[in-house]
Amino acid sequence: MPSSSPENIRSLFAAVPKAELHLHLEGSIEPTTVVELAARHGVIITEAEVSQCYAPGDFAKFLDAFKWVTSFLRTPADYAVITARLAEQLLAQNVVYAEVTLSIGVMLLRKQDVLANFAAIREAAIRYESRGLKLNWIFDAVRQFGVFAAEAVVNLASECVGEGVVAFGIGGDELALPAADFRGVYEHASAAGLGRLIHVGEIGTADSVREAVEILGVTRIGHGIAAMNSLSVMEYLAQQEITLELCPTSNIRTGALARQLGKTSPSVGDHPLKLFFNQGIRVTISTDDPAMFETSLLDEYERSASKMGLSADALGQIAEMGFENAFLNIQEKNAYLKSFRAAASKAQLLR
Ligand SMILES: [Zn+2]
Repeated sequence: MPSSSPENIRSLFAAVPKAELHLHLEGSIEPTTVVELAARHGVIITEAEVSQCYAPGDFAKFLDAFKWVTSFLRTPADYAVITARLAEQLLAQNVVYAEVTLSIGVMLLRKQDVLANFAAIREAAIRYESRGLKLNWIFDAVRQFGVFAAEAVVNLASECVGEGVVAFGIGGDELALPAADFRGVYEHASAAGLGRLIHVGEIGTADSVREAVEILGVTRIGHGIAAMNSLSVMEYLAQQEITLELCPTSNIRTGALARQLGKTSPSVGDHPLKLFFNQGIRVTISTDDPAMFETSLLDEYERSASKMGLSADALGQIAEMGFENAFLNIQEKNAYLKSFRAAASKAQLLR
């Protein structure tokens, strides 16, 4: 078994092909690119201003930052630029497959042509397939915009099944409206052949995590860290084989972990990733919004070893779960798993 020193973990995980399942395109825009996009639209801002906006705070500050940065995404060409830059960042880390969340709810709020934006995003992404990176898409509604707005997102996602849209999700302020309001929306998503997921239990309660599964039929949950406060919810998630898409740095930066723990300044070491893994819950590691949170997938693996004490073997199993729990068909999944296992065994990552 290779040693789990932080440098070693980084190089081990750089060597294996990886999947990333919880990643927002709009959260991947580096400050230099925000400055560039703003200038395209006649707005002069500095990188320092962007960094200040991205700085850690509470969840409301994070939602404001997301709103502000997306205000510079105005044309399909803007979306194409940020897609290409995200693809470069992923390739540089040996990420071969990602499911990227697109805030369709925000595009609709700004009265944009969603299908034109998506066509530009797709065109930009497809160029990277010959270099070994495949991107699929999750159309995301914004919870506080309500049920009708979410229904509009499902309708658009349904139109794009077969064009790489694999799932429907909801993000935003999870405390805004109860899960039950969205039952019909998720039924439509399922009927259209879309995977179902949701951001929940990030700042909300453990019960809200269980409800999302019971009421909306989601198979994957963005964050769900509130489950750490309830043994019965953890047992339920393990038994139902629900995947938690965990983003440790994100939970620190948005104050979500502090809120769940009732502690002012928690560290990454307080994150429940290891607890969930040991409880037999399916978990994956992601960055959420890598530019906003100044992180990368390799940083997340490294911190999971150095700050949470996860072994190289455990992290190897978690990396494998990234492919196993992707919204891919069985042939695609098996092909990725085969190449992952070959590389992992060469790197002595899996027993
Ligand atoms: Zn997210």
